[in-house]
Amino acid sequence: TVLADQIAAGEVVERPASVVKELVENAIDANSTQIDIYVKEAGIKEVTVIDNGEGIAAEDVPLAFFRHATSKIKDRQDLFQVNTLGFRGEALPSIASVADVCLETALQTETQGTFYHVRGGEVTAHKPAAMRQGTKITVTDLFYNTPARLKYLSSLQTELAAISDIVNRLALSHGEIAFALYNNGKRILQTAGNGKLIQTVSAIYGIQNARQMVAFSGEDLDFKVQGYVSLPKLTRASRNYISLLINGRYIKNKQLLKAVLQGYGSKLMVGRYPIGVIDIHLDPLLVDVNVHPTKQEVRISKEEQLANLIEQTIYARLAKENL
Ligand code: ADP
Ligand code: MG
Repeated sequence: TVLADQIAAGEVVERPASVVKELVENAIDANSTQIDIYVKEAGIKEVTVIDNGEGIAAEDVPLAFFRHATSKIKDRQDLFQVNTLGFRGEALPSIASVADVCLETALQTETQGTFYHVRGGEVTAHKPAAMRQGTKITVTDLFYNTPARLKYLSSLQTELAAISDIVNRLALSHGEIAFALYNNGKRILQTAGNGKLIQTVSAIYGIQNARQMVAFSGEDLDFKVQGYVSLPKLTRASRNYISLLINGRYIKNKQLLKAVLQGYGSKLMVGRYPIGVIDIHLDPLLVDVNVHPTKQEVRISKEEQLANLIEQTIYARLAKENL
């Protein structure tokens, strides 16, 4: 029902950035190699995501808007086992229940695609459309029927920063995809999509900053860590510049964040943070299942051991630089 979708939306769709996150994750799951994101007024007015992925078969389009029809996991244990970012089959129905959604999609094998329009959970158009392979989704009038939510949105600047942060993290965890992000027609980000992490870092943080970063890698019996960190002299005053990835999925974890900073020892100025991308590989069974699937905050068994590995690896790498 529309009401059930709206309740789910309360959890999935907090702000324009959540719409961007869900749409882009779907595009990633569809094996796209190029994803273009256009937002207007920080996504409050419009979010459009265009991908060149597999597309949705005409007969499956209504299912995509039907809650749990596409759920891929049976329990939380599966979360880090599934190869897709989406797993609940909740995002599209939720978004469509609190906004206006236009979808155009086509498979490579189809001679024509599908146009589908849902507003406030009601389907208002479903017809064939001329479309090349891939999917284009446009979300407008976000929260038009839930004014309380609309009221809680922050300034355009804050909402845009949240969008930018999400896209940066998705780009960092998917170096093989070329991402472009535009706000009101102005390009904010473009990544090469050639799989080179340092090039994505450069696209996000600037080439000058990227030149000041060093690669590190280390492993023990359970974990493998690799990535890039900035040298201490290059410091930025935000924790947001440290990205943690587990098996290609970006996560949040306070203890691991602390481990990155401790790897710097006393080299960082007080209150300053480095830029860092820490890519962690582990057996999915080591991810604590007692986490809420919509939250990015993740707990790990043997967390202390992993924190030590991260700290030691970064410490040893920076020591080589004779700072
Ligand atoms: P989930 O991603 O959890 O499966 P969503 O509600 O986000 O659920 O999407 C529902 C379904 O719609 C997906 O499982 C997928 O089959 C299809 N879908 C959505 N967006 C795209 C896209 N850009 N390209 C191809 N298929 C898509
Ligand atoms: Mg999804």
